[in-house]
Amino acid sequence: MFRTTFNCCKSYPCHNLGVENSSEYQMESNHLGYPAIHCRACGSYPPLVDDVSVALLLEEKINIHFGQPLTGCTHCENVFFIAYCTNKPAENSAKRYGHTSAGQQRLKCGNCQNVYSLKSIKQVDKLERLLHLIADNKSTSEIIEQLACAPKIYYQLLAKLADILRSYARLNEQILLRSNFLALHTESDLLRYAGDKTLWCLATTEAQSGYCLLYNHNLLLTTPANTVYEGKASSILPEPKVPSILAALTTRYQSTMRRPHFESLHYGINSPLRGAHYVKPSTLSYAHFQLLRLYCQPAKHFHHYIEHESAIRGAALMASSEEIKAEQAEVFFVYRHFTGGKELPSNGNNIGWWSDRWYGTHYGAYCPITYRNKYPVPFSLFDANGPKKVHQWIQDHQAASLKSAKSLDAMIEIQRNIYNFCHLLKSGDTPAMRLGFTKQVLNLSDLLSRAITAVQGGQV
Ligand SMILES: [Zn+2]
Ligand SMILES: [Zn+2]
Repeated sequence: MFRTTFNCCKSYPCHNLGVENSSEYQMESNHLGYPAIHCRACGSYPPLVDDVSVALLLEEKINIHFGQPLTGCTHCENVFFIAYCTNKPAENSAKRYGHTSAGQQRLKCGNCQNVYSLKSIKQVDKLERLLHLIADNKSTSEIIEQLACAPKIYYQLLAKLADILRSYARLNEQILLRSNFLALHTESDLLRYAGDKTLWCLATTEAQSGYCLLYNHNLLLTTPANTVYEGKASSILPEPKVPSILAALTTRYQSTMRRPHFESLHYGINSPLRGAHYVKPSTLSYAHFQLLRLYCQPAKHFHHYIEHESAIRGAALMASSEEIKAEQAEVFFVYRHFTGGKELPSNGNNIGWWSDRWYGTHYGAYCPITYRNKYPVPFSLFDANGPKKVHQWIQDHQAASLKSAKSLDAMIEIQRNIYNFCHLLKSGDTPAMRLGFTKQVLNLSDLLSRAITAVQGGQV
């Protein structure tokens, strides 16, 4: 299901791509001045990855995003989508199985066949007021005052609200797991708070709808010491405002080459936050793309469209190497540029040290990292700015200062759902409508009442 080592060749089409412990590897090479492995088959030197750190990060994040305290079977593993990924049958979701004497829905688990009952949601009116106050960008102290509750109760309500909305979203998202084709678009951005507290974040949208499936930040409550982000001067690739896309891309490749190694991404100096640590962007990236396997693995064919960034590239390849070899997955860079891609010839242009081949398109350019002349499903994007818009939405709906990491995940999850279900796109619909999850734009009260009905009934 999830990869346990990331210390593999990351070059396509090398036969060692994603292969663990190849006899053609020289582990722990320092030939290029950084700890790396050397793949003798293709000559590449992928930087060493701390596998233990990625595993710890993955464990923390999987519970935040895919744990199911409200809807899950109490007898077996409580993680959304895992059953689809491990057993593969399409019909293994839970089935309704009568009610308890108190009127609670009972379900029969499709995985272990045990019967369990769902929880009833209490304090619905308080949850609804909380959702409205959050959507109105009220501060924590204002919300606590308006709800006339103790801070402890506020944090409990916030966590409950996030769990309800997340469960509703994941129940809807299950339909994607039966897709013949899934295209995911992932880009990074910074979430900024007062006093130089800055998070490096990844947003992944379903590429045909702009629906945000997964949003991750690099602030961790339990950070392994050897993957703490050190906060050096920014090495984020520039977006040159030059009228040549070729020059802009060339500059980006040159900036990558100036790093100590190409996955060594820094995004500037950061102030510490009590009780939490920032992790290196590349470590977050490896964990993020492993989590996306929960969506990708059941699909017959999938594409990753990613930002032109080496710290993301390796993670996308390591999360799809088996499928790439089986011709069931492809990975592409996308790059937006105001000139469009007219400058690039129709048969493409090689750019940079790795001779990546870039092709022009209406929003800029794309580059097939796993190049094949033919693949079953063509590349298309509903909106090249999909993940950018999610980042902007999350940034616009954050408090000015970040005092603790405690409520951050709940806040982001609530905003993700408001964006997906209640936010009207330029096309006149919402991301959730584009995926067929709802037929109309939901207001906040609709969203919550549908979510509660779904959670109490175990299905949408
Ligand atoms: Zn290789
Ligand atoms: Zn079960």
